[in-house]
Amino acid sequence: MCMSNLIVVGSIALDTTHFPNRESIRDVMGGTASYFTLASSFFEKTGVISIIGTDFPENYKETLEKSGANIDGIEIKDGKSFRFESKFMDNMDEREDLATEINVLGEFNPKLPEAYKDAEFIFLGNTDPEQHLSVLDQVKNPKLTAFDTIKLWIDTKLDTVMEVIKRVDIVFLNEFEVRDIFKEQNLKKAAMKCLDLGPSYIVIKKGEHGALLYGKDLHFSIPGYPLDEVVDPTGAGDSFAGGFMGWIAKTRDISEANLRKAMVYGSILASFNTQNIGPDAFKNINMLDIQNRYNDFRRIVEFE
Ligand code: AMP
Repeated sequence: MCMSNLIVVGSIALDTTHFPNRESIRDVMGGTASYFTLASSFFEKTGVISIIGTDFPENYKETLEKSGANIDGIEIKDGKSFRFESKFMDNMDEREDLATEINVLGEFNPKLPEAYKDAEFIFLGNTDPEQHLSVLDQVKNPKLTAFDTIKLWIDTKLDTVMEVIKRVDIVFLNEFEVRDIFKEQNLKKAAMKCLDLGPSYIVIKKGEHGALLYGKDLHFSIPGYPLDEVVDPTGAGDSFAGGFMGWIAKTRDISEANLRKAMVYGSILASFNTQNIGPDAFKNINMLDIQNRYNDFRRIVEFE
């Protein structure tokens, strides 16, 4: 198995999504690990650790492989793939989770291939936090570990979510999840409560309003990229994390100056993701498109 210095652990899903102004889509490839990988692969070969059922369409697997990712760590199990159904509100930002079918993801016991144990950059994407703890026990000496979660795990396994937070370097959450976990409406205070538990940084995603990066002495803010139309924001958070971690893994630089740049790359990949159904947007972009948007961001935030 070939070595990957960036590893993602998370779900690979079949998503059904309902929108206020267009037809619903059914069983489209989704999941944390998928969106993360399609974004991070622009920067760094990504090793994917996940599980799918025997019903998972071959062409979706090919999409992941074509991104350049290493998919040897995807287990195929007899049974149905993880499924997630959700509905976007009129503002296309807030989402109601309608149904989660855990299926084979419930039997997932991630076993890192030997070649992955030395990886320096680890992203624990949204999946059962028990699985995150198991991965943290297996990696040898990571340079940067990051974590994301979702309402289901906050509601059902908060203690385990807290245990993971205590052991990682960066926490990625959206503004609703942060308020929910730390029982604090003020985002700055909620961020500080998170950092008090151990992580060096927290990234708070605010949908179309951008994202915040907090460290003990750091407050960085990036706006959302101005888009004429948002088609499907599913996976925007994971694409953000993919752009962020992909850039960090490529540059192997975890200085604060570089974390700021990573915030920009995260926002760029998230913005491309929302412009198409499912992960389709990633098929049509290249590094030049990413760099152009980077320059746009520079102009947007520039002032004397
Ligand atoms: P995001 O829009 O970035 O929050 O990510 C949404 C993706 O997370 C969807 O593609 C879902 O398939 C996946 N997802 C939703 N709920 C869960 C869950 N409980 N565990 C793992 N993955 C999930």
